[in-house]
Amino acid sequence: MKYKHLFGPVVSRRLGISLGVDVVPYKYCSLNCVYCEVSRTTHLTLKRKAYFEATEITAELDDFLQINPKLDYITFSGAGEPTLNSELGSVISYIKTRYPQYKLALITNSTLLNEPELLSEIQPCDLILPSLDAASEEVFEQINRPCEKLTAQDIIRGLISLRQVFRGQIWLEIFVVPGINDHLEEIELLRSAVAQIRPDRVQLNSLDRPGTEDWVEPAPYLTLEEIRAILQEESEIPVEIIAGTGREGKITVTEQSVLDELIILIKQEEYTKQELAKALKIHVNEVSKLLQHLIQRNKIAARRNHKGIYYIWND
Ligand code: SF4
Repeated sequence: MKYKHLFGPVVSRRLGISLGVDVVPYKYCSLNCVYCEVSRTTHLTLKRKAYFEATEITAELDDFLQINPKLDYITFSGAGEPTLNSELGSVISYIKTRYPQYKLALITNSTLLNEPELLSEIQPCDLILPSLDAASEEVFEQINRPCEKLTAQDIIRGLISLRQVFRGQIWLEIFVVPGINDHLEEIELLRSAVAQIRPDRVQLNSLDRPGTEDWVEPAPYLTLEEIRAILQEESEIPVEIIAGTGREGKITVTEQSVLDELIILIKQEEYTKQELAKALKIHVNEVSKLLQHLIQRNKIAARRNHKGIYYIWND
């Protein structure tokens, strides 16, 4: 059988072996994110309807699952926003009734979580991975380019409602776009939103493949680590970086000797980037490169105090 709605199974960082289920037509979405790795949204809509009948999707699932394949998750995702399909709830209950051995995950952009009907439809899922990239309206417009009238506050309210009713795991994804949502003011707003939403974990992501807009760049690993430190401060909710880590430049022989000095300093006490630049008499950008090198090897970690972000040696 040729599948129109199933893809994979794919092996992903977050979900292990996951069978993808795409329940909406290509690029029907309520957002038009600058970083979208699929492409520009062609049908920007918030309208829930039966874009595909549940039976069309479950027929493919029956065919695929008949051999009882080993899967960590069956995941609703794809090239649009899955919650736009009003048949989603029927597909979810069908899978949970016929194939209770499989765990269900839903990847969503969070824009429809204010709808009580949707909240009850997605209850049987085991894991929901909603997105929240901005907490201010200005940044929300810049990064997510939403449907008219949709606001960041609507999304935050929807996520709070989800937490109040959903018993499974919620892993909140924040996609970091350098120059747009990586500045302190926005991160502080996101921190306060996360505290209200209370997800089970927060995951920081960044560009892996080319985005819709070619000016979107991957966030440097050091930036992600600094954001992680701010979000983690005084919070019990784990914050992790799920973005790829293979983007660093090589350390040259000259840099290696400075790196050795930097390591000695950090092993002795806490230093901010600016203090390290002063102590080592090098530019702060060069310090960033060396810190990134150490962070990616899990040698140091970022923390925050009254001085700002500082670095400590991991014993
Ligand atoms: S919500 Fe997802 S599918 Fe929609 S534009 Fe953003 S990244 Fe693409």
